[in-house]
Amino acid sequence: MANSTSNTELRKIIRKIALLNALNYGGKARAGPVLGKLLAECPHLKTRVKEVASVIAGAVREINKLSPDRQRGIVEEKWPEALVKEKAEVERILPSLPNAENYKQVVTRFAPNPDCLLHLGSARAIILCYEYAKMYNGLFYLRFEDTDPRLKKSALQFYDLIREDIMWLGCKWNAEFIQSDRLPIYYEHAEKILRRGNAYVCTCKREEFRKKVMTRQPCPCRSLTPEENVVRWKHMLDGTYGEGKAVVRIKTDLDHPNPAVRDWPALRIIDTKKYSHPRVGSKYCVWPLYNFACGVDDHLMGVTHIIRGKEHLTNQTRQEYMYQHFGWKYPETIHYGRLKITGASLSKSVIVQGLRTGLFKSWDDPRLATFAALRRRGITAEAIRRLIIDVGPKTADVTLSWENLYAYNRKTIDPVANRYFFVGDPKKLIVKKVPHTFTAKIPLHPDKTERGFRSFDIKPKEGRVSFWVSSDDLKLMGKHKKMRFMGLFNFQVEKVTKHGVQAVFHSKSHEEAKKVGATLIHWLPHDTGIPCEVVMPDASVVKGTAENSCKELRLDDIIQFERFGFVRVDNLDEKLTVYFAHR
Ligand SMILES: [Zn+2]
Repeated sequence: MANSTSNTELRKIIRKIALLNALNYGGKARAGPVLGKLLAECPHLKTRVKEVASVIAGAVREINKLSPDRQRGIVEEKWPEALVKEKAEVERILPSLPNAENYKQVVTRFAPNPDCLLHLGSARAIILCYEYAKMYNGLFYLRFEDTDPRLKKSALQFYDLIREDIMWLGCKWNAEFIQSDRLPIYYEHAEKILRRGNAYVCTCKREEFRKKVMTRQPCPCRSLTPEENVVRWKHMLDGTYGEGKAVVRIKTDLDHPNPAVRDWPALRIIDTKKYSHPRVGSKYCVWPLYNFACGVDDHLMGVTHIIRGKEHLTNQTRQEYMYQHFGWKYPETIHYGRLKITGASLSKSVIVQGLRTGLFKSWDDPRLATFAALRRRGITAEAIRRLIIDVGPKTADVTLSWENLYAYNRKTIDPVANRYFFVGDPKKLIVKKVPHTFTAKIPLHPDKTERGFRSFDIKPKEGRVSFWVSSDDLKLMGKHKKMRFMGLFNFQVEKVTKHGVQAVFHSKSHEEAKKVGATLIHWLPHDTGIPCEVVMPDASVVKGTAENSCKELRLDDIIQFERFGFVRVDNLDEKLTVYFAHR
């Protein structure tokens, strides 16, 4: 590309990059990655970053107002070759879907129960379903499975929080369904399957039915006629039967080796006067169980590929009986292995219990692996997405550590995070015999000097200057030890006490520091800085002082405190509060 890029040309390039970015991220382009891609393609624009950034902001705003279909349309018309390339990139990473060519359009779905917030354990289902739909120009649905107002009761707040999490992951869905809106559909199918003689209303006591089924014996209800079953069904609906008194069972095979498959329950009665549903109250007393609602929906919604954990294999076996009764074709399935993150609590019950007892303060407590908590710590959706795509849908179990996730995150935030000084638990350090005034000019990013500098003026009084250093760095010091203040000068330690250090000026240059093997530490002038608290992953707090230029930070900025780690700006009101991501 020519060294001088005209403004019209620049706008065109930016528009293309932003449109492709939007297509990759569910219709929402983001300025940061667009700028990164632009500078990678046209490095000479680094000298015009400010101007370029404002053009990008405008383009992103405009493009994000368009529907994904419209965005795709523009790209198809103007740069069809770009779409082929983007598609190939994803395809190279994810193995292809089974029999995708047999369907007009690939349809996938993510189906959470809104009884809890989503956590990292859901990332695989969401991201794979979304990415596969995207890869095949198909559809990705969000379906709330909220049909258990008794044991897995949903709560209104979670519908929105889940939507927020999925949007944050960049997995925008094409349509949304809520099962509690669909009770009449399940009733219609229940009646149909009863009339066909493929299901029955069982009024046996649970324990009696269990005894029979364990010995492969039918209960007396199994031989009722369809007409008798329909009468019983009406009585389920009109409240004649109380909670637990009747259940619709799908006929399977009483000889099936897995007793859990034998005549599984499809719909049951819940006393919604007592256990009211958060969305529909006590309007319905008959509720479908998981396999019935999910099975009916997958068929009616035209889901072609079910991508889920292998713990669902038995559910497939159960549902296949029902599909056979209805004369439906079961969707293609991919059952991936378990994804374990060592040290992360991914159990809903542990999270909920901890919140109830006050162990965790909120859903985004840094000790949790909820998306809300990860977001608060500055773990990016992009890092999670990359990780999940690399893991893919393999059936073997996978164990990851936090470090794996951090490595992905570091890759995404390191190029964007500006650097600042933060001194934890500050201690005073006095340097004597400083020969003259110094101005330290330290880049906001070591590889991207175009972003600017932070500057510190050091004015000795009778040769003395006072600094803040962190108490951790005090441990590195001892008599005669030579140290270097990053970007400033070198000094030699004279005396270390619990409260501070006395030192004497040694030399200026970095070369000299290397020659004498000086340890590099960060610092702040004693009379500067703002109070800052860092919330650590174990919820402990490190108190200290951050450099003055941190006053210009904005909420959600992800920055690096040099020699400390990456953090996300959480609050700027009275003092600066940041959440620690990782080193
Ligand atoms: Zn029975």
